[in-house]
Amino acid sequence: MASAKIIQLPQADLKSNEKVLVTQPYIPPLDKYMHFVEQAFDNKWLTNGGPLLKELTNRLKDYLGVKHLLIVNNGTSALQLAYKLKDLSGKTALTTPFTFPATSTALEWQNVNIRLADIDRDSWNLSASNCKTQIQKGNVDAIVPVNIFGAPCDLEAFDELGKKYDIPIIYDSAQALLSKYKGKSIFDYGDIHCVSFHATKLFHCIEGGALIFKNKEDLQRAESLINFGISEGGIVKEAGINAKMSELHAAMGLCVLDDLDFLVENRQKSVERYHSELSDCVELQTTSYDSYTPPMYMPVKFENEQELLRVNEQLNLHGYSARRYFYPANNKYIDEKRLNDLATNNQITDSILCLPLMHGLQYKHIKNIAKLISF
Ligand SMILES: *Cc1c(COP(=O)(O)O)cnc(C)c1O
Repeated sequence: MASAKIIQLPQADLKSNEKVLVTQPYIPPLDKYMHFVEQAFDNKWLTNGGPLLKELTNRLKDYLGVKHLLIVNNGTSALQLAYKLKDLSGKTALTTPFTFPATSTALEWQNVNIRLADIDRDSWNLSASNCKTQIQKGNVDAIVPVNIFGAPCDLEAFDELGKKYDIPIIYDSAQALLSKYKGKSIFDYGDIHCVSFHATKLFHCIEGGALIFKNKEDLQRAESLINFGISEGGIVKEAGINAKMSELHAAMGLCVLDDLDFLVENRQKSVERYHSELSDCVELQTTSYDSYTPPMYMPVKFENEQELLRVNEQLNLHGYSARRYFYPANNKYIDEKRLNDLATNNQITDSILCLPLMHGLQYKHIKNIAKLISF
C-alpha cells in the first residue's frame, strides 16, 4: 500500500510524543479520595457491605430515582447475575451482534444459548421488530437488548414483546446510566438493567457495576447470590459467587458521583462541538423517538470501511487514536448460514469509529479531528 500523504493542519499539532487517546478515566482530586480512604482505615472495614458502599448505594438510588439497586464488583458479573436470576441456563436468549463482547460471553458463561437478531439502521440498537420475527420462529426465553453508546433502544416495544410472549427483558445498560427514553429514565422499563462503573465509563468506581431491578424479590435473591449464596442465618440455599464491591472502590464512586453533573456538562460541550463540525460529512447515531443519550462516546459512521480506514490512518499520523467499536465483529456467535439475517449489522460494524472523548478535551483537538475527517 502506498504511504498516505499527511494532511497539514492549521491548528498547532501535538508534540511528537503526545497522543490523544480515545478516552481516559476521570481522575478526581487525590486528597478527596484519600479522605474516604482514611474513613475506611479508621473504620477498619474494607469490604463486605461497608459504610462507604452503603452511602454510595443510597446516593445512587437518589440520584437515579430507582428503588431496587445492587452494586457489584463489575458490569460483567452484573450480567451473569441477571442471567442466573432469570434461570436462563440451558435456555435461549436473543441479543444484538453489535455490542461489547461481555454481553454475549456472559451468556455463554451461564450456559445460555445465544441467538442474534439484526439491529436498527439509525439507532444501531437491537431491532424489536426483528426480535419479534425471531420469537415467532420459536424457542426464545429472554431478550437482552443493549443501549449501545448510551442511546436507548425502543424500550416500549421491548416491554410489549416481554408481556406478549411472557419472557424477561434484561438490558445491558453498561453504557447507559443516565439515558432517557421519552422523557423517562430507561430504568422504568424492563425487568433488570445491568450497568458498568468501569474506569472508562462516565461514572466510575475504577471497577464496578450494578443491577437495577423491577422486582424486590430479584434484589433480595441477588443480595445473597453476590455473597456466595449465603442468606439469612448463614444458610446456603443456592450456589452464589463473590461479586461484592470493596470500600476503596466505593470511595472512588463517592468522589466521581460528586462531580458527575459537571463531567456530563463538560463532555456534552465536546459532543456538541463535534456535531456542529461533523454533521455534514459523517452519519451520527439517531433514534426515531424522543430520547437522551449521555455524552459517553463519540461514534461516527462512514460511508464504507475504506473511508473509515483512510480517516483512521490520518488521525493516527497526527497523534489521535480513535477506536473501532465493535470490531472485529462478534463472529463467534454468528451462524455463517444466517449472515443474511444480520445485513444491517454487517454494514454498521464495518463503518463505525469512536472519536476521542474525555473530560477536558480541548476544542483545538476537535477542530483538528474534524478537519482530518472532512478533508
Ligand atoms: C463496559 C461494558 C460491559 C462490561 O462492563 P465491565 O464493568 O467492564 O465488566 C458490558 N457491556 C457493555 C456494552 C459495556 O460497554
